[in-house]
Amino acid sequence: MSSSADKDTTKPANFLRQIVENDVEKHTYAARHWGGSPGDAAHHQAGPADPSPVRLRFPPEPNGYLHVGHAKSICLNFGLARDFGGICHMRFDDTNPEKEEQEYVDGILDAVRWLGFDWQANGTDHLYYASNYFGFMYRAAEHLIETGNAYVDEQTPEEMRANRGDFTTPGKNSPFRDRTPAENLARFREMKDGKLPDGAAVLRAKIDMASPNINLRDPAIYRIKHAEHHNTGNTWCIYPMYTFAHPIEDALENITHSICTLEFEDQRPFYDWLLDRLREGGLISSPQPRQYEFARLNLTYVITSKRKLKHLVDSGIVTGWDDPRMPTIVGLRRRGYTPESIQLFCERIGVTKDYSWIDYANLDGALRDDLDPKAARAMAVLDPVKLVITNWDEVMGAGKLDDCSASVHPHHAERGKREFKFGKELWIERTDYEEVPPKGYNRLYPGNKVRLKYGHVIECTGAVKDAEGKVTEVHANLIPDTKSGTPGADAIKVKGVITWVGVSDAVPAEVRLYDRLFTDAQPDAGGKDYLTLLNPDSLKVTNGYVEPSLAKSQPDEKFQFERHGYFVADRKDHQPGKLVFNRVTGLKDSWTK
Ligand code: ATP
Ligand code: MG
Repeated sequence: MSSSADKDTTKPANFLRQIVENDVEKHTYAARHWGGSPGDAAHHQAGPADPSPVRLRFPPEPNGYLHVGHAKSICLNFGLARDFGGICHMRFDDTNPEKEEQEYVDGILDAVRWLGFDWQANGTDHLYYASNYFGFMYRAAEHLIETGNAYVDEQTPEEMRANRGDFTTPGKNSPFRDRTPAENLARFREMKDGKLPDGAAVLRAKIDMASPNINLRDPAIYRIKHAEHHNTGNTWCIYPMYTFAHPIEDALENITHSICTLEFEDQRPFYDWLLDRLREGGLISSPQPRQYEFARLNLTYVITSKRKLKHLVDSGIVTGWDDPRMPTIVGLRRRGYTPESIQLFCERIGVTKDYSWIDYANLDGALRDDLDPKAARAMAVLDPVKLVITNWDEVMGAGKLDDCSASVHPHHAERGKREFKFGKELWIERTDYEEVPPKGYNRLYPGNKVRLKYGHVIECTGAVKDAEGKVTEVHANLIPDTKSGTPGADAIKVKGVITWVGVSDAVPAEVRLYDRLFTDAQPDAGGKDYLTLLNPDSLKVTNGYVEPSLAKSQPDEKFQFERHGYFVADRKDHQPGKLVFNRVTGLKDSWTK
């Protein structure tokens, strides 16, 4: 068994994996040729046997940044290609002239690469733009006209809508439906030559106005749009409809498995109808691609519509596409999610045909599982209050600092130690002191003993408060001979262990505590207005202190702050002398008592 086959058996099975596996085993696509680049039947036939047993594609429209839903599609398509020795094409579905921008093209390529995939194989860069196929699409349209499979319809849009019928009523044939191929061809060429204004006519496939599948009631395949295209400029004033363009893009690229979300299930009969006609006409290679559908990812507390995400950005609700609260790939990255955690998440949630919502906790679970064995540990105090060891001068000596250390990672001794100083003044969490302890509270309150992690045991004696009653200093006495790691240190039993940093060597840090952006688990389902469901506490910024080992931390570096969770040095704002950390997520078993 090859190592890639070994790897396969550890992957959870899903129906798409089985389909691809089966096609690889049965050599379903072995007879195909590959012309070295996308092209028609003749182009591919002139090339050698296709070296790739299967070809998949990821085909975003460059009209926004990719989000976690796209990540599922990326992991699925690139992952299947990788696992079965195939190739996944990176294709921009840029057939719509108005909405696309270079910024989005660059952002999308970055996101896919960052997630861990690429589109190079056998020395070829499989990066394609659907707009490069306009010429072939036009030829395909003329072919349909010539074979009596398409006609130019000049009904008004209202008439067309009225004559389409509905689920219970069959549609009515257009009065233009019986034009001859010659008439249609002449009229279509006038459309192409700019002789007709936008909306004056459309080219429609001639299928069946009475079909129970409304998508087969003579769907429009070309429309007039006098608009400049970012790639083809003003060469065209007619543009293919998505449902016509997409199957052709797949066919020209020799795609074998064209995987899309379930909304397109009703389009599959047209996908097959169109490619059947083009294959019969000898225009595309055979066997032709097939479409398969899976359920899109719905993640709780998250919206995954590019249009709505763009609105959050444009209206200033978030700071940009890469705001750490955004479910975009750039947002997740800045928040501190790793490519491995997103891949793991996608693998675990699997692929099905059932509509469902995935709990956001799964993403955090995957992040913890990825980071727990990797992330360096550190102590940080997020909401600091000063702790004064009142007997320090007597028991340790005035001005003395005591060296303490801890493992960088508890399971990786080879990664060494972090060093920090215990002294008379320390920073602790404000919540680690209570004047009157609630039931079960084991941390600092007058008369109670706790251990300062990696340091000494102390006994709390009280606190100093300001005029408003706010605690400004907590006081305690150090109990001698209790230093962690020294003989007899455990002679005194304590129930509470708290984290701290030394006033003498702690480094100030801004800590951004992110929480979910919405208060509702399904913020845009069932016609809900997601803008009324924003979480007012989705970001809290605190000025805390971190242990000195973090002074040299680099943007993007991830840590487990003991007791607090996983944090990342912000990739935009973190710099030496001005540390900024984002909370990715808390620790699974949150610190209690
Ligand atoms: P939006 O509606 O937000 O614009 P889209 O589906 O139109 O998203 P595309 O750029 O067309 O965005 O999507 C590229 C690919 O990503 C498609 O193959 C699509 O099926 C897939 N995809 C998009 N959203 C999801 C999702 N939530 N779950 C799984 N796959 C998705
Ligand atoms: Mg789309």
